[in-house]
Amino acid sequence: MEYPPPFSDSQLEDLVSDIKDWQITHGSLLKLVNTDQDSTVLTHPVGACLFPTLFPKELFEQALGLQKVYNKLYARVAEDEEWLYETLKDDEFARILWDIHEEVKKEGYVQDHTLGIFRSDYMLDANPAGQVKLKQVEFNTISCAGGIHSNLISDMHRCLQRRGAYLPAVPIDTTTPINLSASHLPPSHTLSTVTAGLIAAHTIYGPRKSPAAEQTCILFVVQPRNFNIADERPIEYALWDQNIPTFRVELTPEVLAHTSLTPTRELLYHPPSRPAAAPLEVSVVYFRAGFEPEEYSGPGCGDAREARVRVELSKAVKCPSILSHLITFKKVQQALAIPGVLRQFLSSSGEAVAITNTFARLYPMDTSVAGLEARKLAMDEEASEGYVLKPSLEGGGHNVYGSSIPAFLTCTPEETWSRYILMSKIASPNVQNLLMSPQGLYKGPVISELGVFGVCLWRRSAESEGRVEMVEDKEPCCWSFKTKSAGVDEMSVVKGYGCFDSPALVDNDVFMACCRDGEQS
Ligand code: ADP
Ligand code: MG
Repeated sequence: MEYPPPFSDSQLEDLVSDIKDWQITHGSLLKLVNTDQDSTVLTHPVGACLFPTLFPKELFEQALGLQKVYNKLYARVAEDEEWLYETLKDDEFARILWDIHEEVKKEGYVQDHTLGIFRSDYMLDANPAGQVKLKQVEFNTISCAGGIHSNLISDMHRCLQRRGAYLPAVPIDTTTPINLSASHLPPSHTLSTVTAGLIAAHTIYGPRKSPAAEQTCILFVVQPRNFNIADERPIEYALWDQNIPTFRVELTPEVLAHTSLTPTRELLYHPPSRPAAAPLEVSVVYFRAGFEPEEYSGPGCGDAREARVRVELSKAVKCPSILSHLITFKKVQQALAIPGVLRQFLSSSGEAVAITNTFARLYPMDTSVAGLEARKLAMDEEASEGYVLKPSLEGGGHNVYGSSIPAFLTCTPEETWSRYILMSKIASPNVQNLLMSPQGLYKGPVISELGVFGVCLWRRSAESEGRVEMVEDKEPCCWSFKTKSAGVDEMSVVKGYGCFDSPALVDNDVFMACCRDGEQS
């Protein structure tokens, strides 16, 4: 079975041209911050797949179906301080965040609600028997990006399908092309779902409490020199469209300069453009920054910490709180995979089994029995081929893959090995597609990653199961979908490894037949 269908050169040229125009018109762009001048700035279209990539429908639905269980699990883990402390006590970056939590705890927390905007990432794993399963790559709880870009690429693929752009010019007799119809292409609703989550948190916060404030607002904390504004700004604009004032402040200097804490711990935002006006009271703080250790340890490192303490001390609902930030650490993912641990958080054995089935093999790299076993695997030239070594860092580009692991560990002081986890490599079957990015056009075998968004709001409560009362849990109807050349280990699109994409959902046997045919061609 052949997919994508055979296209003539002129058909491809038309498709590429259509895609560029669609991307420019809809803001599917990256900002080239270095070109920022007084009156103009350049952008380029974000890397995109020309065709939606094939993905098994059943596994797509399985991933979406699991998201509410993952939301519940991770909310409960975030509220289990003791377990979190034990799990993360040896991690340097975790310690910086933990200290902030301790400092705030001493004063007493004044907000029981937390907003989760999570993203659970999966790849497909093919076993030698020809079955394909869903395996989790990682679980993200801070600054989950890519949702808006994927939302747009999914809209674009569906628009191109409607316009007949994917129909082959001539009927093919030797193979059976998959005739893409609207039913293969699920819509993604990231923008509306993430916005609805922020509105739910804003509503729970209620009216302003400080007499000094004029009204309430939502605050986005972002990284400076941000080239990925197209993935953030639309959420801000959607909130304004709902009459919710929303502002962006950079971590760190702007948070410190433009916010203050009242004696009763309302967080006030002082818009720099209106110094004489009354401040606004912040209902929700949404972090799209603060996930990299360098943000805390660079020049003026005390400031990011100070900014984070100020926000954490406040009555604002945080997305994430310090505790729900800590659960993003890969060490947490590995600790949850230890047999028996899930049942501490999930009373239903069915739910625990469904989650466990998505786990790859995960090992600590410490001096426990499992850790020593992992160290042996990692140092072995042959065995290491089947593994990925990961530090607890976010944002892409930090992992060590396969045969590079032994040499990397040899040059790394042994006392720091426990900061890593070892994970079995997920062996994705290859399908075919064409990718378009500033690096050029690529045609050949590709691998996709599905990231399911979970948007939930919970209240810490001693009486509730797992100390968590779920107040809102949005239907999981949004995802990010990214595709890269099969020869590339990493994925981040904005760092140039992969492309945004959307899935073309097909039955398992059609998917596997396309993988086989792709290998033979
Ligand atoms: P980050 O926090 O940097 O995004 P990830 O765990 O997502 O870390 O790893 C980055 C990329 O590396 C993933 O998007 C995926 O492409 C690849 N990768 C990570 N873990 C595995 C694995 N177990 N098997 C195969 N590829 C992996
Ligand atoms: Mg990742």
